[in-house]
Amino acid sequence: MIRHSATLAINEKLQAKRAAGEQVLHLGFGEAGLPVLPEVRDVLAGAAHRNEYGAVVGSAEARQAAAGYFSRRGLPTEADDIVLAPGSKALLFGLLAVLPGDVVLPQPSWVSYAAQAALLGRRVLGVPVPESAGGVPDPERLDRALTGARKDGAEPGVLILTVPDNPTGTLAGAELVKEVCAVAGAHGLTVLSDEIYRDLVHDSAEVRSPAAELPEHTVVTAGLSKNMALGGYRIGFARVPRPEQRAALVGVASEVWSSLPAPMQEVAAYVLAEPPEVRAHIDASRALHAAVARAVHAEFTAAGADCRAPQAGFYLYPDLEPLRAKGFTTGAQLAEHLLDRHGVGVLAGAEFGDDPAALRFRVATSLLYGDDAEQRWSALRSPDPVTLPWIARSLGHLRDALSAVLDGE
Ligand code: PMP
Ligand code: GLU
Repeated sequence: MIRHSATLAINEKLQAKRAAGEQVLHLGFGEAGLPVLPEVRDVLAGAAHRNEYGAVVGSAEARQAAAGYFSRRGLPTEADDIVLAPGSKALLFGLLAVLPGDVVLPQPSWVSYAAQAALLGRRVLGVPVPESAGGVPDPERLDRALTGARKDGAEPGVLILTVPDNPTGTLAGAELVKEVCAVAGAHGLTVLSDEIYRDLVHDSAEVRSPAAELPEHTVVTAGLSKNMALGGYRIGFARVPRPEQRAALVGVASEVWSSLPAPMQEVAAYVLAEPPEVRAHIDASRALHAAVARAVHAEFTAAGADCRAPQAGFYLYPDLEPLRAKGFTTGAQLAEHLLDRHGVGVLAGAEFGDDPAALRFRVATSLLYGDDAEQRWSALRSPDPVTLPWIARSLGHLRDALSAVLDGE
């Protein structure tokens, strides 16, 4: 049975509840709820006449701009290394289809990796993340798991890393990335590094890409869904340095999606050249994501949750183990209770491959910025967004819900 992806399913469910007039706090979906930069809208409008298919790999301008994007981030890249596609999700699927071997995942990790591996009939090996940060497996456990898996006849071939991470909202530090890559290299794995959140690191911490550690054996995917809040434009791109891997990916692309729509290639070329207004927009977005994620984190920790402090993007991964004493036995049961009784929508950790019995869940904080473009622009421009009435109200809703659940309601 092929399920509706948990992230998209909860979004549709919560939107329907809202449309029916219910008061719902939407913490279920990782959409970067921000308006489109006016200059981006203008580029798209000016490209509306572009109705040709174009090259499967992407336009020369967009590939050149994407190469510049990576090169400015310490990964020297040629335009030839780049493949654009409608969403990095499609690229991840195409890459999993062409890279051989069983798929190794950090536990927890984003919902679609395991689901895509299952669609492709591939075996998944989960390895828990360390305490310090998610998105990468604990290096020692990874080493043991790979050795054990080989003994059991498995053939681990691909390791997916998320730097920075969804669902934990953390960034694996440079040393940790190095250690994980050393293990991956020793076991001959190809690393698929999902860097879609790399521009949204809250402070100035260094993002160490696995591609800097294992340049010959790492493919990087990224996109404009998170940094520029353009999820619905579906612009993704991959850096695939090995020609044979690129050719195989392009083969899949040519049979499944043909190309990124031509008007979106123009948007990609414009954004990835990173003119000052684009940089300023991403800087403002990052500051807003950080302020709201920190405020939501404070609510959860005040309610007794164990939760890594947010370092990037717009996610938290709290553990509400103290609520086991109130009769909750699974994360899904707690998530259902939070929604049905308190109008708070979150996704249980089991959706991310975590232990179903754990009272952990993913909280996405990016849909708290407002219900319309005006509120969202105000949030982006505010020096203290958590004091805006609509954001403060949402934080109050969460506070009341958590204290009611702690009181056994
Ligand atoms: N990777 C991660 C970790 C994500 O959270 C998302 C969210 N959409 C994606 C990939 C896919 O993004 P897109 O297809 O919009 O590029
Ligand atoms: N990546 C986002 C999330 O984790 C939503 C979009 C998607 O899953 O495709 O909620």
